Amino acid sequence: MKFANLSLNGAKTIALVDTQTSVFWPVAEFIPGFNGDMIQLIQSLVRFSGDFRPKGAGRPLSDAVVLAPIDQPRRNIFCVGKNYSEHAAEFQKSGFDHSAKDNEHAPEAPVVFTKPASTVIGPGVKIPSHAPLAKQLDYEAELGVVIGKGGRGIKRAEAMQHVFGYTVINDFTARDLQKLHRQWFLGKSLDGFCPMGPYLVTADEADGQNLDIQCWVNGELRQSANTRQLIFDIPTLIETLSAGIELHPGDVIATGTPAGVGIGFNPPKFVQTGDVIRIEIQHLGVLENEVGE
Ligand code: MG
Repeated sequence: MKFANLSLNGAKTIALVDTQTSVFWPVAEFIPGFNGDMIQLIQSLVRFSGDFRPKGAGRPLSDAVVLAPIDQPRRNIFCVGKNYSEHAAEFQKSGFDHSAKDNEHAPEAPVVFTKPASTVIGPGVKIPSHAPLAKQLDYEAELGVVIGKGGRGIKRAEAMQHVFGYTVINDFTARDLQKLHRQWFLGKSLDGFCPMGPYLVTADEADGQNLDIQCWVNGELRQSANTRQLIFDIPTLIETLSAGIELHPGDVIATGTPAGVGIGFNPPKFVQTGDVIRIEIQHLGVLENEVGE
């Protein structure tokens, strides 16, 4: 199933979406009285045993604005750095990476940081450029994993049972701030730096461990990989994070970006106001955002 967080005549509505026919059905048609957000839907679906078969023709998606599926995360987005080998190499060579040991090709353990909830914006929303604070803006196409059933001490073997679904994330970054402040938090946490969407696709519809991921800037293909190339796979990330931090329904894990980011080029290809970043992940849809003023 694909779920969307829609703005419908100014009111937020969680809906089941058919992307083939571009129609939607409000979730309240399946769960009587449901009036919550996507995280509340995830919480109720962990226990739900009803039927999600659409009744009737649905309403056209063009009547609504698609928002980020989880536009108000309850806590920070968990993010993983340097989780594709070729990207780890391009980052190390770029001179922007203060976290690598000399000549290190890949990290020994997952490199984890977070972005605050205030970074999240939806598809089609302009990414603030934060000029003149930030001068070297970069894109990172990533698979977002959304937790269903929470837990602590989740083992690899059971980890995939805790995945509710997947979405598309752009881990947008100000490279100059990332480099200047050494810790990655500031450079990756400016308001609007986490475009997300368009949909939350349930785990039965997409194999998160084998999805093509691609990113274009102004129509030029920059990143092209598959999530099976992750250095630390989804079960490892869940095991690592949950070892001492209880995961909650609706938590989001951005799993890392493949090679082809702006600093991977010589000279670097940073993005600027007016550039359009389009990220597509197989079965999950397209996330497109323009860099704003
Ligand atoms: Mg990233």
